[in-house]
Amino acid sequence: MVRNVIVGCGISGAVTARILAEQFGESSLLIDARPHIGGNCYDFYDHNHICIHKYGAHIFHTDLRRVWEYLSRFTQWYPYMHKVLGFIDGQFVPIPFNLNSIRMTFPEFLARRLEEKLVIRFGFGSRISIQELRKSEEKDLVFLANHIYTKVFLGYTQKQWGVTPDKLDPAVLERVPVYVSRDDRYFRNRWQGIPRHGYTAMIASMLEHPRITVKTDTSWNDVKEEFRGSDVRIFYTGPVDELLDWRFGELPYRSVRQDFHEFDREFFQPAAVVNYPENHDFTRISEYKYFLADQASRTVVSFEYPSAWKRGENEPAYPVAGEDSHRLHRQYVEAAREEYGHIHFLGRLGDYRYYDMDKAVARVFSVTEAL
Ligand code: UDP
Repeated sequence: MVRNVIVGCGISGAVTARILAEQFGESSLLIDARPHIGGNCYDFYDHNHICIHKYGAHIFHTDLRRVWEYLSRFTQWYPYMHKVLGFIDGQFVPIPFNLNSIRMTFPEFLARRLEEKLVIRFGFGSRISIQELRKSEEKDLVFLANHIYTKVFLGYTQKQWGVTPDKLDPAVLERVPVYVSRDDRYFRNRWQGIPRHGYTAMIASMLEHPRITVKTDTSWNDVKEEFRGSDVRIFYTGPVDELLDWRFGELPYRSVRQDFHEFDREFFQPAAVVNYPENHDFTRISEYKYFLADQASRTVVSFEYPSAWKRGENEPAYPVAGEDSHRLHRQYVEAAREEYGHIHFLGRLGDYRYYDMDKAVARVFSVTEAL
């Protein structure tokens, strides 16, 4: 007898199934409408033996020891440290913007002055948001802030979200701060890496348990009549507006398209990810062989094109944070609870939160602990 149905076989769904199997001794049916497991973390090895992230680059990083240790039961890690370059005014500069980016951008006398002022005002090693820097009272720092705002944030954010940065929930921009340091890494978290054999292998290993049954190519609509009115618990990681046939209207999401290209050369670009804040329709290019140091004479990249989500045309990837959208999400969650009883929402789409992978896992911990 199945005790739980889990909709969506991404990292949230897989961790849920494993916890229910191991800690609760309960069986789960895990379904996914796509033909594969892994959700948006899905990766695969191509004919060059390069591990490709089908839905765009995923880099694991966390300060949550418990999450790191939990996932480490199912994979070894390649200690990849993520670096991003921004292609700005014809050169590649480290993103987040840091003291090295300043050196590359401005004449030496000015760079030194800006560095000094940053270090004195904020302290070496600090992390500041672009909004905070823009509020500076020091003229030089306002000049610097305006430069970074215009060159790094403005164009990229318009492409990614369809609005200027001031219309965005400030937490989104805070994901990418300005660093008063010479460390070019994108993340500062204690634990960072890529699953040694890919995310799909990590998730497959999690799902190898006699109390877990996985069915791909199976949507909630295919099975819902079987479970309606039963005692079965539902864990739903998909879009909640779709679950209720958009009865209160559509929730806003952003979608991204990856355009893959293969080149007959060893490397395409000088880092795994290069951001293009200006002058291009795409936001960034990811080059996949960097993530696991795959050895191949050819290389594969994807150009990332964001757009608004349109029902039936593309897939939702990011929730759009805002008072209205969160209110509408809550309305859906309440209606779904009334209709289905034991239903829990997880993951970026189900919970309508801009979770990184580690936060999605932490959310599963807290939801399952409260059962
Ligand atoms: N961002 C930007 N320029 C950049 C990098 C990021 O304007 O070069 C902004 C943009 O609004 C983006 C947000 O910061 O959506 C968060 O960036 P992050 O790299 O965390 O996005 P993700 O990898 O989750 O798509």
